[in-house]
Amino acid sequence: MTVSSGEPNPDMPAGPLPPDAALPPEAALPGAGVPDAFGRLWTPHRLAYIQGAGKPTGPGAHEGCPFCVAPTLTDEEALIVARGELVYAILNLYPYNSGHVLICPYRHLADYTELSGAEAAEFGDFTMRAIRALRDASGPHGFNIGMNLGTVAGAGIAAHLHQHVVPRWGGDTNFMPVVGRTRVLPQLLVDTRKVLADAWPAV
Ligand SMILES: [Zn+2]
Repeated sequence: MTVSSGEPNPDMPAGPLPPDAALPPEAALPGAGVPDAFGRLWTPHRLAYIQGAGKPTGPGAHEGCPFCVAPTLTDEEALIVARGELVYAILNLYPYNSGHVLICPYRHLADYTELSGAEAAEFGDFTMRAIRALRDASGPHGFNIGMNLGTVAGAGIAAHLHQHVVPRWGGDTNFMPVVGRTRVLPQLLVDTRKVLADAWPAV
C-alpha cells in the first residue's frame, strides 16, 4: 500500500543483475537493469491531473464540474468518503497530505454565502466529522481547514464551493514540496477512502 521508496521488490533480485548472455557487452546500456540508489514515487493520480482529467470546461454545473459529477458515481469510483443529505465528503484527487478531504454541497454554487441555513449546518457538521474520522484513523497532530473563494484566492474548481480539511503531522513538510514541487504521499487514495469511510462517525 505504501508508495514510498526503498522497499524491496520481490520480483527483482536485491543485487545487480547478471550480465545478459544473449547480448554482447557493448550492446547493453551502462547500468541498464541494475537497481540504482534512487527510490521511486508512484503517483498515478498526478498523471491524470497533468493530462487534464476532471477539469471543467466552463463554470456551469453541466460543463464537467467534478463536484457535480462525483455524486453520480459510486463511492469507490468517485473516492467519496461519506454522503449526507445536502453535502458530501470526498478525497481531494491532488492531496497536500494523505487524508486531504473536501466537503462539498451537492448544489453547484460558488460562494459560501449562497449556502442555505440547512446546507451551512451540514457543511459544518461534515467538517467536524471529517476531523473526527481523520483523528480516529491516522492521529494527525493538527489540521488546516478552509475555503478558497475565487480563482484568485487559489480555488482550483472555483465554481463549486468546497472546504478543505487537511491533516497535518509534525515534520510533514520537507524539502520535497519546496525543492521538487512533489509531495510524498505514503498511502494510495483508494486505501485512504476505505479507511476514512470506515472511521466516519455516524453522529
Ligand atoms: Zn458543480
